[in-house]
Amino acid sequence: MSQSASAFPEAPAESPSSSSRTQRILRPRRAAPADAVRPTRAEVNLAHLRHNLHLVKRAAQNARVWGVLKADGYGHGAPAVARTLERAGIDGVCVALLEEAIELREAGIRAPILVMGGYYGQAWGELLEHKLTPVVYEPSQIEGIAREVRHLGASPIGVHLKVDTGMGRLGCQPRELPELLAALQRFPEVTLDGLMTHLACADADTLEGIDQQLSLFEEVTAMTRAAGFTPQVRHAANSAAMLRTNTAHFDIVRPGIALFGVAPRPDLAAGLRPVMRVRTEIVALRDVKPGDSVGYGWTWRATRPSRIATIPIGYADGLHRELSNVGCALVRGKRAPIVGTMSMDLTMIDVTDHPGVSLRDEAVVLGTQEGKLGKDVITADEIARLSHAISWEVLTHVSRRVPRFYREA
Ligand SMILES: *Cc1c(COP(=O)(O)O)cnc(C)c1O
Repeated sequence: MSQSASAFPEAPAESPSSSSRTQRILRPRRAAPADAVRPTRAEVNLAHLRHNLHLVKRAAQNARVWGVLKADGYGHGAPAVARTLERAGIDGVCVALLEEAIELREAGIRAPILVMGGYYGQAWGELLEHKLTPVVYEPSQIEGIAREVRHLGASPIGVHLKVDTGMGRLGCQPRELPELLAALQRFPEVTLDGLMTHLACADADTLEGIDQQLSLFEEVTAMTRAAGFTPQVRHAANSAAMLRTNTAHFDIVRPGIALFGVAPRPDLAAGLRPVMRVRTEIVALRDVKPGDSVGYGWTWRATRPSRIATIPIGYADGLHRELSNVGCALVRGKRAPIVGTMSMDLTMIDVTDHPGVSLRDEAVVLGTQEGKLGKDVITADEIARLSHAISWEVLTHVSRRVPRFYREA
């Protein structure tokens, strides 16, 4: 890959000996645990991750499990998550971006990696170099890969063909299938290993949407086989589809959110254990009088003598600003309401009803806490509901400023 392809041409090389690849894919630096002075951190429970994998494997029955680790493993840190899952026997992983796949290979992940996005720029060589499994849906992708295989004198590479059966996002339309199959016939350097689709309504109230897409998927499969292709694997199911109906299982399932212990629908939680917990500590405490206000815009006013704690986490850490005057943190095992408008780096909570509260007490904004005053939990679903988001956003929004700490239990 030439220097001129750099996405960050102004970025200095890390060292004179660093390869051009590390220059092109410059990862934003995230706070490392060793840098952490602030007590705010995301704890990632690897025992829970393994537990969820076992549940997912059981739900997948005979299908293989290729876990979806896009967006830095849903915010948990893709390399550590992938390493844990690989050791625990996951069959493969899926990511959205080529650069996400390369990051995992460079972290030593040897399991199959499916690159689902399908936009490769012209970096076909990197697909081959890192032994990645590309998703394709356009003849030009097949041609680009084939030329590179020929150029390098490499052996044929297996791809997965993505078909749009109703998501309306990526994938070839069923009527474009003949054109794709013709390209595959033209370029023997590329072999059709897999056929995949993505479901739009896997979490809907009825299974109708799933059924409709799957019947189109069967038609597409029949057309593909009639053209003389024998894809070894087919896949369609995200977490919701996997947990709801084995008609969507085929040969591989692609769960994401379930691995991280969050249910894609409230009724599909059975046994899942949340992997991420976000905690910080109280850095300031003040007593305010009735009528005193707190925070930008004075959106909260005390109606009684109140004790206000300040915690060093704000919307720039990924805590939704919509939680202002609505959400909670846990202190000493009991809810403390967020008061006032949240800031970029700081949030105030009302600890008037938390006897004994003191500086450096832990405050949990996502996950469980047990303390002198009780035991409670703030789930990603709760935050999502209050902030008009979905739990996928809650996890992926935890920003790079929050160091991830990995725990074994
Ligand atoms: C994100 C994604 C998944 C995983 O979805 P979850 O709902 O998190 O299980 C599966 N397949 C594709 C194509 C995706 O983009």
